Parts: sequence; structure tokens; C-alpha cells
Amino acid sequence: MIVEIEGLQKIYNGRQRVVAVDGIDLNVREGELYGLLGPNGAGKTTTISICTTRALPTSGRVRIAGVDVVAAPAIARKGIGVVPQYNTLDRACTIFENINFHCLYFGFSRAEAKARTEQLLEQFHLTERTGAYPSQLSGGLAQRVQIARAIAHRPKVLFLDEPSAGLDPQSRIAMWDAVRGLRQEGITVVLTTHYMEEADELCDRVAIIDHGKILVEDTPANLKASIGAQRVYLLDLKDCSSVPVLVDGLKKLAGITGVEATDKGVRIFAQGADGLLSEIVQAANPYGLRDLTINETSLETVFIRLTGRDLRE
Ligand code: ATP
Repeated sequence: MIVEIEGLQKIYNGRQRVVAVDGIDLNVREGELYGLLGPNGAGKTTTISICTTRALPTSGRVRIAGVDVVAAPAIARKGIGVVPQYNTLDRACTIFENINFHCLYFGFSRAEAKARTEQLLEQFHLTERTGAYPSQLSGGLAQRVQIARAIAHRPKVLFLDEPSAGLDPQSRIAMWDAVRGLRQEGITVVLTTHYMEEADELCDRVAIIDHGKILVEDTPANLKASIGAQRVYLLDLKDCSSVPVLVDGLKKLAGITGVEATDKGVRIFAQGADGLLSEIVQAANPYGLRDLTINETSLETVFIRLTGRDLRE
């Protein structure tokens, strides 16, 4: 295992005591693309900060490629690349200089640094912007430069904290392609995200994290299959006073695998059964059916099933 996290805990003792990471154990295999999926405040950034030697754990242990990040941070850092949540490119330097200086900082000779920088600019389709300054780049391009810079010293593991936050859909897809491309170099990637599509599209395995704890960990396909449903129907009702009666009635319909009350009505988990939609509508009409949303099962559904909450709430 290239990333080993054991019993990790981080408590912030400020004005308020916050348990940001509450006993996380996880292992990432070499070459894997691993995702930490959870809502804001779940403890993802704190976990990454500890892994990348930017924060100290309260207890527990992290080893990257066998190196303990607390005992030997300087050695650990050589094996780690990191793209934090915010743009940390040097605004006074060109794109070329940002990457080149990173290489020199990690001990490359001038010639090696230049060659590596040129190679990365090409790999990340940035050659036309070599002389540009960070302020002249779109969010998507800046993010690609940050990734190129983070892997310039050939780390074993790249940590990406919310890599597509603030990116438009097109830039997000370009960023996903860039991250997938890292597989060819054998780099292990650990990313945090609160976008279920991102975790689903990119990751070999995903840990769903909430309130500093891992709730489940598996491949996206297995996580979705664990729901035992293909579709989720969300009913918005005018009259919620007798929802429990409706819930009981719906549970009896063939194809429905789960029903739960929500603030505004009912959430139904179902396998594809012919005619189910009209049966649901018929059952819900007496309660003043205001709106109906149908979604395919996603990692969001898994989160909802586990916590009763939406990822974005
Ligand atoms: P986000 O994507 O919003 O950063 P996250 O899942 O990465 O969310 P963290 O940033 O790790 O979550 O935060 C976890 C909890 O720890 C939150 O309740 C946050 O308010 C708290 N926290 C984070 N940093 C500090 C700090 N320096 N001092 C006190 N509390 C903190």
C-alpha cells in the first residue's frame, strides 16, 4: 500500500473543540485513483493536510510510500505532490517559471529542470501559454498548471483537494482527462471532492466521509449496487401530516425497495418495474403531489441512504 492511514484523528482546540477527523483508517494501492467524497466540513481537507505534512495529527499515523509523514516530513514531501483548494501559483512568475522553479527547488539541475518543464507544458497542453502569468489564465488552465507543477518532481502520490471547485463543466472534463493521464506515469492519486459525478467518473475506489468518519469504501459501481435500487423518486407533497400512512402503502408496491419520509414528502428507492410511476402518482395524489423528481442511483443516493442528508445540504 502506497498510502497507509491508521486511526487518524485531528481535534482543533480553538474557542470551540472541533473533531475534524475522527479515527480514519484507509489504504490506497499503488497506481490507484482514490476519492474522498463528502460534504463541506466532512474532514477531507484536514486529512489531506496531514498526509501532505501541512498539519499535524492529534493521534494516528500516516505513511506515504512507507515514510511516516510526522517522523520524517522532509523525506515524505519528496514522494508527495499536492494541489491545494486554492490557486497557489506564484503570480509574479510565468507559467514556465512556476514549474521550472519547482523543479530547481527539488534539486533538478538547470538542464533537467528546463527539460522537465517543457515536457510537462506539452503533456498538459500548455505550450502556447508558456510566457503567460497566472492572472492571465482561466480557472481551468490555472488548475492544469497547478497539477503539472505538483507532479514535476515525479512524486509517487498526488493529492488533489477539490480539484474542480469553481471550474466550468468543460474545464472540469479537461481536468479529469489530465488526471486520468497520470495513470500512465504510474502516479497514485488521492482526491477530495463533494461532486459525486467526479468521484464516480474518476475514481477506482471511493471512501464516503462525513463528520470525520469513513462511512463506506468501495468501487463506485459496488457502492451504487449496494443500494439495491436503480431509481430514486422524490415526492414533494402539500400535505405531509399523514406521510407514515403513505410510506406504508408505497412499501407494498412491487419494485419498491425502500421508502423514507423527508422534510417535504417522501423518498422512494426502486428497481425498474413497469408501471411503477403511475402507481406512485396514484398513491401520492391524495396527499397533494406538488412535484416529482426521478434520478438514477448515484453516489449521491448512497450518501443520502447512509446519512438521510443530501451531499450539498
Ligand atoms: P471543505 O471542502 O469545506 O474544506 P472538508 O471536508 O475539507 O470541507 P475540513 O476543512 O477538513 O473539511 O474541516 C473539517 C472540520 O474542521 C470543519 O468543521 C471545519 O470547520 C473544522 N476546521 C478546519 N480547519 C480548522 C482550524 N484550523 N481550526 C478550527 N477548526 C477547523
